[in-house]
Amino acid sequence: MNATTTPTSTTPTDGVAGIPTGLFIGGRWRDACGGKFFEVENPATGEVLAAVADAGPTDADEALAAAVAAQAAWARTAPRYRSEILRRAYDLVIARQDWLAEVMTSEMGKPLAEAKGEVAYAAEFLRWFSEEAVRISGDHTTTGDGANRIIVTREPVGPCVLITPWNFPLAMGTRKIAPAVAAGCTMMLKPAPQTPLTSLALAAIFQECGLPDGVLNVVNTTDAATVVERWMSSGDARKISFTGSTAVGKILLRQAADTVMRSSMELGGNAPFIVCADADIDTAVEGAMGAKMRNMGEACTAANRMYVHRDIAAAFSERLARRMAELKVGNGLDDGTQVGPLIDSAGRAKVQRLVDDALTRGATALTGGQLPDGPGYFYPPTVLADVSPESELMTTEVFGPVAPVIPFDDEDEVIARANDTEWGLVGYVFTQDIDRAFDLGERLEVGMVGVNTGVVSNPAAPFGGVKQSGLGREGGKVGIDEFLEYKYLSVPRRQGR
Ligand code: NAP
Repeated sequence: MNATTTPTSTTPTDGVAGIPTGLFIGGRWRDACGGKFFEVENPATGEVLAAVADAGPTDADEALAAAVAAQAAWARTAPRYRSEILRRAYDLVIARQDWLAEVMTSEMGKPLAEAKGEVAYAAEFLRWFSEEAVRISGDHTTTGDGANRIIVTREPVGPCVLITPWNFPLAMGTRKIAPAVAAGCTMMLKPAPQTPLTSLALAAIFQECGLPDGVLNVVNTTDAATVVERWMSSGDARKISFTGSTAVGKILLRQAADTVMRSSMELGGNAPFIVCADADIDTAVEGAMGAKMRNMGEACTAANRMYVHRDIAAAFSERLARRMAELKVGNGLDDGTQVGPLIDSAGRAKVQRLVDDALTRGATALTGGQLPDGPGYFYPPTVLADVSPESELMTTEVFGPVAPVIPFDDEDEVIARANDTEWGLVGYVFTQDIDRAFDLGERLEVGMVGVNTGVVSNPAAPFGGVKQSGLGREGGKVGIDEFLEYKYLSVPRRQGR
């Protein structure tokens, strides 16, 4: 099998109009069996952007059959061949950055500048794993008694179920597809129904880059439970890689148990953001803006519990509130917008409910806290001071632009509060004392720590959480391991020489 040369087609410019709206199965675009469609909406305006094919169980079975049929030949391809497909996909995604950003903003709401940032971040997974594809290594040792050689090789795990959420529709896709391609796995991708267009655009790019038929199959559906269960119970899908809520992750883990599938889970978080008395307040406020407001707060890494030392809590809260109040809220496609709408009315209603609960329990809104009038699912950037530890906001992932500030007095107390949660994705520590930074970072029960920074995500780093935030890591040197199995060959050595 030879890779084709880099495609020469021009960059699409006509918004979502140029994106295929079917299912992508076995290298073909087609309607769902039964001809069902569902509509994709712009959350800033309510405008219907497109109707995409709505898969059912027969489509799920066909996607699985395509992935199974392609697996053996795909596993035998040269690493360099897979690497070059990924590299071409990287080049095309970067060449189409503006267009992909517009598609993402249209269906998901984030401001264009943030969407462009996500395209660059997503593309980096393609480049990173194009480099990792040719570095899959094994081992060669001898048994303790010298009788046998142990030759350790790595093999693709097999057909994979990939499930992505709506909040980072391109990056969550490439963070799974790229290592699966690099490892030699075939896959069925089920994107979130709010944001299928970005995934379909990515599938078209892979097709253009010469990805063989059946390696990537994209199945949009409004019936995730039925479609995904077909794959989970089949015994033919060998791995589940899921990004989404902890509640759905647990359902999938139970299903995975029945067929003993390899499982990677990137689940929810409720990140503590600790600002010590010796922190530089401006640095901490900048960090808080990044950690809280990225993606309108609809991020698993969002700083949702801001623990600030009592000596500086008032100054920090006041500066943060000033910065938040200055942000321009609007349609993400409009120039200058810094905060877009939330994903849907249910998401916004949840945010308002949590804010109302905190206010009822004695918190003060320094800015925001009120639903705006008009169309679109907008919610204002909100800072709440003196939030009671009993507020539901402390134990529920808010997924919105709300920053609760809670004063603390000593380090043991703040670590106990930060760790008093079933989640453990990420934590943030702001201090000018390096020893304190290491100490608090080590005591936080999380998979990632930002020290004097509000951003931890990077394709070169192992992303993931502990406790009920997940299993496994995506990205970094270990990201490809999630898609590989070990095999060892025991080869006797000639004796007596
Ligand atoms: P979600 O409700 O769990 O949905 C995630 C995906 O799972 C969607 O594609 C969804 O499709 C699908 N799904 C739902 N029920 C399913 C079932 N029974 N079987 C198979 N698939 C099913 O989460 P979300 O609201 O889209 O995303 C927000 C959550 O994702 C937050 O908790 C956030 O923290 C987490 N997240 C984690 C990371 C990370 O890396 N740790 C990154 C981003 C987001 P339907 O919508 O059709 O149900």
